[in-house]
Amino acid sequence: MKIPVALELKLPGRVGVFHAAEQFADMEYLGQTIRFAAPVSVDVEYVFDGEGFSVKGTLRTALHVQCARCAKEFAEPFSVELDERFEKNVPEDSECYAFSGETLELDQMLSDAILLNMRPYSVCKPDCRGLCPICGCDLNTAQCSCAREAGEEPLPSPFAALKTLLNDDKEV
Ligand SMILES: [Zn+2]
Ligand SMILES: [Zn+2]
Repeated sequence: MKIPVALELKLPGRVGVFHAAEQFADMEYLGQTIRFAAPVSVDVEYVFDGEGFSVKGTLRTALHVQCARCAKEFAEPFSVELDERFEKNVPEDSECYAFSGETLELDQMLSDAILLNMRPYSVCKPDCRGLCPICGCDLNTAQCSCAREAGEEPLPSPFAALKTLLNDDKEV
């Protein structure tokens, strides 16, 4: 993704507006594959101050992720604020990005912004009940008896109260 900046280089202080969307290929990061469920959409303003460009705005996309509790795959919206600088001559160990000619090449900045802001884990919904640790069934859609068999309090049965009533009747 590139911003053409020939005009802004001649007119320092002029605020340019840039919007683009592009489907990104999978990215490998720390042994994980990052897969995009939607195009990467970028809305930024950029301005040349005579030395370099400041670029500010928002990146939005969606990522294919796996629920940390139930392992279901789903598309999770992802957005990050961008506030970066591009300079022609970037000193070593500077946090700026380099540009040359009349173009700002955004791809490095965009992939950095995505990788640095990845969530450590995702859940498909805040109250996801996850998988049963014993039989592996999805507790969102199924109910197993593992927890009860493992010795936990049984769930109160709606018939318990009725049974007591019937027994009382017998005794009378
Ligand atoms: Zn889940
Ligand atoms: Zn179970």
